Amino acid sequence: MKFDEDLIVLLILLFSWVEYLWELYLSLRQLKIYKTNNTIPEDLKEMLNEESFKKARVYGIDKSRFKIIKEFYSIALTSVILYNRWIYVAWHKSENIAASLNISPDREILVSCVFMTFVTLFNFVINMPFTLYSIFVLEQKHGFNKQTAGFFIKDQIKSLVLSLVITLPIISIAIYIIMLGGNMFVVWLWLFTTVATLILLTIYPSVIAPLFDKFVPLPDGSLRKGIENLASRLNFPLSQVYIVEGSKRSAHSNAYFSGLFGAKRIVLFDTLLEKYDEEKRVTTGCTDNEILGVLAHELGHWSCSHIYKSIVLTEVNLLLLFTAFGLLFKYSMLYTALGFPAGQEPIIIGLIVVLQMILAPYNSILSFFTTALSRKFEFEADNFAVSLSYPRELRSALLKLGKDNLDYPIYDKLYSAWYHSHPTLLHRIENIRTQTANEKKE
Ligand SMILES: [Zn+2]
Repeated sequence: MKFDEDLIVLLILLFSWVEYLWELYLSLRQLKIYKTNNTIPEDLKEMLNEESFKKARVYGIDKSRFKIIKEFYSIALTSVILYNRWIYVAWHKSENIAASLNISPDREILVSCVFMTFVTLFNFVINMPFTLYSIFVLEQKHGFNKQTAGFFIKDQIKSLVLSLVITLPIISIAIYIIMLGGNMFVVWLWLFTTVATLILLTIYPSVIAPLFDKFVPLPDGSLRKGIENLASRLNFPLSQVYIVEGSKRSAHSNAYFSGLFGAKRIVLFDTLLEKYDEEKRVTTGCTDNEILGVLAHELGHWSCSHIYKSIVLTEVNLLLLFTAFGLLFKYSMLYTALGFPAGQEPIIIGLIVVLQMILAPYNSILSFFTTALSRKFEFEADNFAVSLSYPRELRSALLKLGKDNLDYPIYDKLYSAWYHSHPTLLHRIENIRTQTANEKKE
């Protein structure tokens, strides 16, 4: 092992640990807030009572502790894998498996598929204790888990198989394009991934999502009428309104619209609809008007073209990533650093090392800015709902959803800036208030 190769591994590990310690610091700041803040904010007094506030705190503390342990496990594992050069070991094993299937080791694309399957299965198994704990202990304890063991097993196997069915062909073609090389291979690679992403986004709502959840059209009635009126008022190309049985999976609630080109569908989680729980003797979900407030927000995302803006950003980023890959992936040291013998430089390994490891600092900084941008989009969508005269409905829907989801309302500033793709409930309510006041002035 040469000094330079060790240095590469050390730098990769150093960055992972710096990021881990930074996130640990943020979690501890937030944990302190959970533990020391005992007063319900004025804006939320109508939504939370002492009991639900306390429940949200305990839920927050439990989630926080779980996250701290899970992240430690993950960084420790990454360190062991890199230190012991297990990536090479996995590649070597994949060659052996391929050989037993009569695939020669120099058929790189096929060996890469075996390798990816191996890595995916390894991650699946190694993360399973945490997945199980999160769903059947943590969420269960706070009354959110609705999955039975049977549903869980089927669901996990389905998503595992589906992720392989989707990623293996895409990766194979990407490797093929890189192997062909040429001056322009970065551009071809970029065009290919762009087309593949757009196809996936287009078929997701009608082909992939129904594999996992049951979608039923929203029955005729006042809610449906209200949604259709709202859509036609804005010229929103609405094709169908569906209810998805999110409650089989979890009691958390949501709504979204999908469809990239042409007609779009609106999807409501069944947990969003108002329902009386006989057992707990509480009403959950929102009234029809509040749901319209939520949809006015969703239509705000459409009206402000947030999806297209995000896609453009993703594409620019991909082009930058692939350019960096094109410049770096020929350095043999990247491969020998991971334990590969000189001369053996599989493309899939180059992709992993450059895109995930060497560029990890860039990815983290970018994610910080895109999270901030997403919060800006959320405010814009809220403002749109206010401009459609839904401030009261949206506000009370947000309060009810916050209560149903046991969202703890107070967050540390840094923690929020790093993690939250949505502004906190308090910020949104404050923004709705100022926005409403501005509208009245105009
Ligand atoms: Zn939104």
